[in-house]
Formats: sequence, structure tokens, C-alpha cells
Amino acid sequence: MFKSIIKKIQMLFFIMLLSACAVNCSKNSDSILKESNQNVIKIPLELSRKSEAAACINGDRALEYVKKIVSFAPRHAGTPGLEDTRKYIETTLSSLDLTPVRDNFIAHTPDKKIGDVELANIYTDIGDVKNSDGFFILSGHFDGKIIESGTFYGANDGGSSTALLIEMAACLKKHPLKVPVRVVFFDGEEALVKWTDSDSLYGSKHYVSYLAEQGLLKKIKGLINVDMIGDSNLRYTVDTNSNPQIMNALMDSAGELHYDDLFVGRRGAIGDDHIPFVEMGVPAAVLIDFNFGPGFSSNSYWHTSQDNLSHVSAKSLAQTGQVVLLSLTKL
Ligand SMILES: [Zn+2]
Repeated sequence: MFKSIIKKIQMLFFIMLLSACAVNCSKNSDSILKESNQNVIKIPLELSRKSEAAACINGDRALEYVKKIVSFAPRHAGTPGLEDTRKYIETTLSSLDLTPVRDNFIAHTPDKKIGDVELANIYTDIGDVKNSDGFFILSGHFDGKIIESGTFYGANDGGSSTALLIEMAACLKKHPLKVPVRVVFFDGEEALVKWTDSDSLYGSKHYVSYLAEQGLLKKIKGLINVDMIGDSNLRYTVDTNSNPQIMNALMDSAGELHYDDLFVGRRGAIGDDHIPFVEMGVPAAVLIDFNFGPGFSSNSYWHTSQDNLSHVSAKSLAQTGQVVLLSLTKL
């Protein structure tokens, strides 16, 4: 009798301990998650369970890639900096045990003085893309803009996308998904004179036909293009040209990560490297912060020498990498 009372007391104590632990455990994971919002070096525990690849993203490492890319400025068509950037992408991918592939092509510009220019996309596969039933594409551009005064560093525009693609490729290599992923670095996104349908998106337009020739276009399960995602005051634009299912996956992922301030109701129709894919019926979306400047709605740093290292952050790079890779688990 006495023994059974002691046993009952022991059992009661054990249950109390368990429930206390449950409360504390959730508190702990919450505080780690909150801390991770302020310091990208801390990895949210919840995220590791949802996507190891997303939890692997390191914003500081991505920022180091941005610094290197900025050192090649200017990097528009015809500059040594553009070829230096291509070589840097290739050598960095190789050092990460990934195989870069160059897709050389001639871009026909509408400007008679500029004429035809030699450009090259670069891509790398994580998994067997060619023999798969379907694959994802993560993409972004690396070229810079020709501006009238000062140097275009493109830390955010072109730099952040390139750096994050390298970091995401490295994390996917370490933690592959069931579905293969192709990471594509587009050349020639920027207009060489003025943005029109014929003077823009040279790399992505060419790449659509390149994939179609190989019979791969129809196998794309989803494409997420990133652009200008290093803005230290990161607020994404919900693009109305993008595939709604992919946009929802991106927004849901940001919500799950408690990054509630990243989507704040900004909407707009964005022209970017996802458009040639959208036009061919591929489910494609762009993740972009098209308000790059001080305050809520200014875009005053865009396409100026103010697009420099002082206005990008490791935190924004890490948050975007986590959001993008987590969203792939929802598609
Ligand atoms: Zn641009």
C-alpha cells in the first residue's frame, strides 16, 4: 500500500516534470528563434527540423562573397569585371565540390552602336537534373548596370543574388533535397541603354531557349529568382507577375520563421529574369525588395553608386536564403 502511494507520488512528480519541460522547451526554441532574427549566426532550432539546407545558410559567408563580387566593379557587358565575376563564380563553385557549366551566347542588342555582345550564363546542378522527372531552378543575375555618374558597385543589385546563390548551392550540396536543383547565374539582366522588352533580360531569355532545346523546360517544377535581397532594411515586394503558389510558399515560409516584417503588403508588377519563364508557362516567381533606399518607400539607392556594401547585410542574405530553401519543401 505504502509502496503504491510512493509510486503514485513518483509518477505525479514525473508528469509535473514532463509538463514543466514541455513549457520550457517551447520557450527555449522561441527565444532561440527570436535571437536568430537579430543575429544570423544563430540557427533557429525549428528550422533545422523543417529544412537542414535552410538551416545551413550562413549570412556572414554570403556577405564575404558579396564583398568579393563588389571588388570586380564595374561589371557590365564588355568590362574585365564581368569576366572576373564569371571566373569567380566558377572557381568558388568548384572549391565547394560543385561543377560549374558555362552557357556562352551572343546577345543581339537593339542599339546600333553597341551591336552584338558576348555573354555567358553559368549553372550548376545538385542532383541528376537531366534524368529526373522534375527539378527546381534557383536563379539570379550577376551583371552590373551602366550608370551615368560614379561607380556602380551593385552590392545589392547583382551582388547579393550571386552571393546567395553560391551559398544556397553549397547548402544544397551538403543537404540535398529529394528533387534535384539547378542553380543558374544569369548574365545580361540589365538594360545596356534603356529597359525595354528588347534591351533587358538577355541571359534568362537565352536560357529559356537553351532549356527548351534540351527538352528540360517542361520538367521545371518551380523557379525562384532572387534579386536585390541584401538590402539591410529588407522588405519584399509581392510580385503580381509571379506564380501565386510559389509566392504563397515564400510568404508561408517567412511566417513560419517569424520573419513577420519581411512581407508588409507591398505589391507591384516586377520585370525580372523570371518573366521569360512565366511567358513559357513555367511556374516561376521573383523574390525582390524593390524599395532600396532610406524610409519605407524610397528606391533612391537603386542603380546608383549608393548600391554599395554599406547598405547590405548578412542578416538579410541569411533570412532570404532560409525563406527560399524552406519554401522548396512546400512546392
Ligand atoms: Zn538592376
